[in-house]
Amino acid sequence: MNNAIDETHDPARTSWVASAQGHGEFPIQNLPLGIFSPAGGTPRGGIAIGNSIFDLKAALDAGLFSGEAERAAQAAAGATLNPLLALGSTPRRALRRRVSALLDAAGAERAKLEALANKILHDAADCTLHLPAAIGAYTDFFAGIYHAENAGKRQKKDPPLTPNYKYVPVAYHSRASSVLVSGAPVRRPHGQRLLGTDTTPSFGPSVKLDFELELGVWIGPGNALGEPVPIARAGERVAGLCLLNDWSARDVQRWESQPLGPFLAKNFTTTVSGWIITAEALAPFRIAQPPRPAGDPAPLDYLFDEADQRSGAFDIELEALIMTPGLREKKLSPQRLALSNTRHLYWTVAQMVAHHTCGGCNLAAGDLFGSGTISGPDRSGYGSFAELSSEGMQPLTLVSGERRAFLEDGDELLLRAHARRDGCVAIGFGECRGTIVAAA
Ligand code: MN
Repeated sequence: MNNAIDETHDPARTSWVASAQGHGEFPIQNLPLGIFSPAGGTPRGGIAIGNSIFDLKAALDAGLFSGEAERAAQAAAGATLNPLLALGSTPRRALRRRVSALLDAAGAERAKLEALANKILHDAADCTLHLPAAIGAYTDFFAGIYHAENAGKRQKKDPPLTPNYKYVPVAYHSRASSVLVSGAPVRRPHGQRLLGTDTTPSFGPSVKLDFELELGVWIGPGNALGEPVPIARAGERVAGLCLLNDWSARDVQRWESQPLGPFLAKNFTTTVSGWIITAEALAPFRIAQPPRPAGDPAPLDYLFDEADQRSGAFDIELEALIMTPGLREKKLSPQRLALSNTRHLYWTVAQMVAHHTCGGCNLAAGDLFGSGTISGPDRSGYGSFAELSSEGMQPLTLVSGERRAFLEDGDELLLRAHARRDGCVAIGFGECRGTIVAAA
């Protein structure tokens, strides 16, 4: 990834779009990319700024871009961002710098922009967000080490991690067709499950419907089949990040995943937040990959790069919250289930890319990775009900008095993420939410 800090990160920069000042998610230092439809309009590329969306097509039509930024804006004017993602970081960064200058409260063209505001800005509340890209393929990793350890402990494995875990960034190929954008309802799936003490399966709605708190990774420029991406160049393939909820039917999963990995337990729906938080916006929030505990093996050479170890990880706070019918009835706020951080990933995003391609697999612009559930080291950071309720054996009691071992119909699960650092303006990811609706 491009870690350069420039004027777009300047904490002193403010926007003439008033709602951007102090905005918890989208201050002028963020400028995330997405696909939206204004009321009565067709899908097109946009950039979130405060409570508004900057319309890249309208700005292009108004002649506000030239050079590399114009190339990027043209690639973002259609119904998906795949063409922009394919261009890589140079045009994307040029677009960011130009839009930041256009929205700058102290910008030279402020008066002209304000006169155009009714054409190039839309109230986000009046717009519909879509998936930012047509997703060709979606891969889900297992890089949250506490989640992986907790899964092993529940299965009484000693040691809890399988011997490959610290060598291989474990993953499975998941399902792209059922990835939905935040806000779409999530239908409880049917499947084969073992109920209670049954020894033979029955078919019916999942009774152990779960969420997974994950980081999503949007792939930028792809690689040709048969040409692995070396670890030192792997970060350049990452266009940006989002939140990802890998909804999971645990009862279906336990029965079907023998000996192969998740199938119907995971393929009914995955929800992502709608905005791509670009690699450029995240530059101030890069950190060193936390050192491996003594006794852990070093990554094999094809997964090791000095620069990646020095600055390839992220410091992003992650939250999972639940809103239930009972909380809603009592006019209570969503209740936090977990507070975690991307520091708890055992592998960097570049290592995921290098590993995914090391055998020659080709990635394409708009492909999506999930990081794996990012749990913290103790219960306050557990990113799934399987961990929070010990597979349902210890249900949680919510402040409404309701008990939850897994998700019930009518429950809404909400993921949030924020990157904060002294001397920087904090940025957010927007929301990743979904409400469970009854099985068909
Ligand atoms: Mn997952």
